[in-house]
Amino acid sequence: MATAKTIVSEAKVSCDGGGGPKGHPKVYLTFEKGQKTLVCPYCSHTFSIS
Ligand SMILES: [Zn+2]
Repeated sequence: MATAKTIVSEAKVSCDGGGGPKGHPKVYLTFEKGQKTLVCPYCSHTFSIS
């Protein structure tokens, strides 16, 4: 299974796993200052800030 990665431009992102078997309750994740990547604790989806 490939690890999905999303490039975002805002420090606040939400993830719900995209539905289906990897779906989970919607959570909001926030990039800390200087942080470049975030990993969703539920589905391990990776977010990178541009
Ligand atoms: Zn997720």
